[in-house]
Amino acid sequence: MNTSLMSESILIEPGTRFTCVPCGFCCGYWDIEIDQARMEALNAKEWVRQKVEALPALKGQGLFRILGQGEAALLQRQSGGCSFLDERMLCSIHAIDGMEAKPAVCQQYPNIYYKTPRGIELQLDYSCPEVIKNYGDPVTAEGIRKTLPNEYVQVVGSRLPLSPKSSLDWQGYLHLEALYADVLARKVSHDRKILALHQLTQSLANGLANLAEPDGGQVKELLAPLQGSGLDPLLQQVRPSSKSRGNRDLYLAILIQLVESSFSREVYGQPFSAGQVIGRVLKQWKATGVAELKVFKLTVDYVRAKRVRFDLAGDQIREPVDRYVKHLVKSLVGTGSVPIQKRIAIMATNFALFRWFSCASAAARDQREVGLEDIVFGIKVVEKFLSNRLFNKLEKEKGLLASYVGMLFDNPTLTATMLSAD
Ligand code: SF4
Repeated sequence: MNTSLMSESILIEPGTRFTCVPCGFCCGYWDIEIDQARMEALNAKEWVRQKVEALPALKGQGLFRILGQGEAALLQRQSGGCSFLDERMLCSIHAIDGMEAKPAVCQQYPNIYYKTPRGIELQLDYSCPEVIKNYGDPVTAEGIRKTLPNEYVQVVGSRLPLSPKSSLDWQGYLHLEALYADVLARKVSHDRKILALHQLTQSLANGLANLAEPDGGQVKELLAPLQGSGLDPLLQQVRPSSKSRGNRDLYLAILIQLVESSFSREVYGQPFSAGQVIGRVLKQWKATGVAELKVFKLTVDYVRAKRVRFDLAGDQIREPVDRYVKHLVKSLVGTGSVPIQKRIAIMATNFALFRWFSCASAAARDQREVGLEDIVFGIKVVEKFLSNRLFNKLEKEKGLLASYVGMLFDNPTLTATMLSAD
């Protein structure tokens, strides 16, 4: 228990709401670690023994998978879902033995904490549909304080990497963050905003490249021309790459099919051969035919998906997207060892993927334009399967496509390729 956190300020985005429904979406596909004490306590329960016997798919294994000689163990899954989920998609551990008996990570979800010089900053995980919709009870500092001492808090280091050749101190980061907030407040499309974030990050990184440990004053000076009306020309100038459309569709097809194939192997025991993956990539890229994406629980008609209108004009669908993009920017504070510049490339890709999944979802519902349901589907799928988890998987995968995708994300032109300025 970390009681030293109790005196810190708790920072929560005003208006944040959350109540677990519960729907069970967060309980599948992740590797959920459980500590030894909780695992042993559960293994000693009669109801757990009976559950093991009732699950023939486990083939005599327990409900936990031991990872090695240390303390770590993972919860077993059945077809992607946690083995402890009951038929109503509720957690049996919570229902029978209460909140405290669950693995720590399940107790904490969807809360993510960063400790910065400002205090403890709360972000919610956008793979949860209720978080995307911002439904439920207000999230308050008093409520957070009750559970915080038992939760995992990521401590933000004294310098944040901006690019492979430059970093920011905390004051420098605050100057950059304020400019990002200015960009997000402008009345232009999300694509244009992300392109502008990318461009100004790139020019700051270039300006700082030859300085060993630049301070906040140097960052402020370099960003000064972009303050206030200085942003207008940048927002007007940002352009997608000239080959954008075809390249973007190809990259998206590769990412989606890579994730689908690696999870299919892991979850359904049905590996795709490299030839099959490439065939599926081409089918999606050329927008022909229909495919079942089992992992994402979606059947896509590529021709129809391509015709769906992605128009965020209505408040009901623009508001969650505005909040989502703001969340992506605020989360840059927890970038760890990944340079902010690369995180913006990932953000651009996430946005393009979100758009694609929203359109595919609308097409599956026989709609011609995306609605709130499709927006929620697009964000939750991207955040759960394709965000940082994709990069963790790519680190381990050694195949040709995985290396190609890894290389793309180190290429500064990727961002402009993934988005469209109109
Ligand atoms: S995804 Fe969100 S609403 Fe659904 S069970 Fe998990 S925390 Fe609850």
